[in-house]
Amino acid sequence: MKVLKFGGTSVGTAQRIKNVAELVASRGKNLIVLSAMSGTTNTLVEISDYLYKKNLAGASETINALEAKYMRVIDELYSTEEAREDARRAIKERINFIRSFNKDIFTLFEEKEILAQGELMSTVLMYNYLKERGINVVLLPAVDFMRTNKNAEPDTEYIKEKLWALLNAHPDAELYLTQGYICRNAYGEMDNLQRGGSDYTASLIGAAIHADEIEIWTDIDGMHNNDPRYVEGTRPVSRLHFEEAAELAYFGAKILHPTCVLPAKLNNIPVRLLNTMQPEAEGTLICNTTPTHTIKAVAAKDNIIAIKIKSGRMLLAYGFLRKVFEIFETHRTPIDMIATSEVGVSVTIDNERNVNAIVDDLKKFGTVTVDRDMVIICVVGDLEWQNRGFEAEVVNALKDIPVRMISYGGSNYNISLLVRKEDKIRALKMLSQHLFN
Ligand code: ADP
Ligand code: ASP
Ligand code: MG
Repeated sequence: MKVLKFGGTSVGTAQRIKNVAELVASRGKNLIVLSAMSGTTNTLVEISDYLYKKNLAGASETINALEAKYMRVIDELYSTEEAREDARRAIKERINFIRSFNKDIFTLFEEKEILAQGELMSTVLMYNYLKERGINVVLLPAVDFMRTNKNAEPDTEYIKEKLWALLNAHPDAELYLTQGYICRNAYGEMDNLQRGGSDYTASLIGAAIHADEIEIWTDIDGMHNNDPRYVEGTRPVSRLHFEEAAELAYFGAKILHPTCVLPAKLNNIPVRLLNTMQPEAEGTLICNTTPTHTIKAVAAKDNIIAIKIKSGRMLLAYGFLRKVFEIFETHRTPIDMIATSEVGVSVTIDNERNVNAIVDDLKKFGTVTVDRDMVIICVVGDLEWQNRGFEAEVVNALKDIPVRMISYGGSNYNISLLVRKEDKIRALKMLSQHLFN
């Protein structure tokens, strides 16, 4: 059995829902994970925002528009009036549930209930459509098996046990369907796996059932060698190592949620990135073997803050770095990049929240400078240090751009460079020109 996950654009219109149904119907007994229709989760965030601000009229207007959108989809999706009525009833139940949050109290708890409705609506539309087509599909409620523990990490044992029980209860199903993104937390409350988290759902399910493969179906034909939103003429990479994919996802390749790689890697389950609009395209295969001696792709991560600590006390001293890192640990702020010299150390973080407190603490150890609005450019490939010339090519490609930090040798798979926000697109383009053309 495979896990097939379809993102928001893939189920974004009635026609696309029909296309996905066609696609999954011809691929055997698999488990299908759906995101919300594109735009829906953003609309639910907007509704919650109105409710936080006690703007009931704003919330109500937005809910009405959302309802109208789904009613139009239903009109187009089903072929009989009876099926339309069924779907209208199911969607109205969800919409009225969203409407019910018009009381005085609106907290994170209520917001999470609202955010869950997008995946609940997309799956009910798909479930009813597959049924109308005569397919014996079983809808597995994600909240019955997807759960996080007290550290907000997936409770993998629980997921495995509950999911197997559900699958075994329906041995005759031709297809299983479930919601991406949503889960319950350790206290049984509605929760989610963060924005873009349906990829994580697919990967956690793949690991739980030891799937043959995890397929992430989206709106592009695989992981491209550069960010197609900023660079023209990018091309899909046919194969990536798990580590390479993890670096690219973490450093900004939006096609894959960063958390999605680990469960697949730990269980050695191949992940394939495929295009719903072009199903015959080869896409990208992510597994634990990959072509060597090449640079595969480039990605960029925005909103990076660089912090430099310069200190004479670092010279010939031990324990200095530990003290510096402890400050970041105390403030629960992860470090992305690091570069050191004998008299100073520069690190980057991607979170503004604790910067002032961190800087205050660091000042006990040296002179501190902060650079905001920086971008990490990450070049990924087979960059084992014995391979000659790759790092020279990367640095050479960026010779006209000021580079604030370089990090190389941390893994066999990447070189990271820190540049200013205003140089990001030029840097990405220069790298494509030098490395891939
Ligand atoms: P979904 O809604 O299916 O989860 P996403 O919007 O999360 O889809 O991810 C797909 C998008 O990722 C593409 O449309 C593309 O613009 C963007 N993207 C960014 N970097 C890359 C890359 N290196 N390769 C492919 N797509 C990328
Ligand atoms: N619907 C959620 C979001 O928009 C989860 C996902 O699409 O992966 O973030
Ligand atoms: Mg996504």
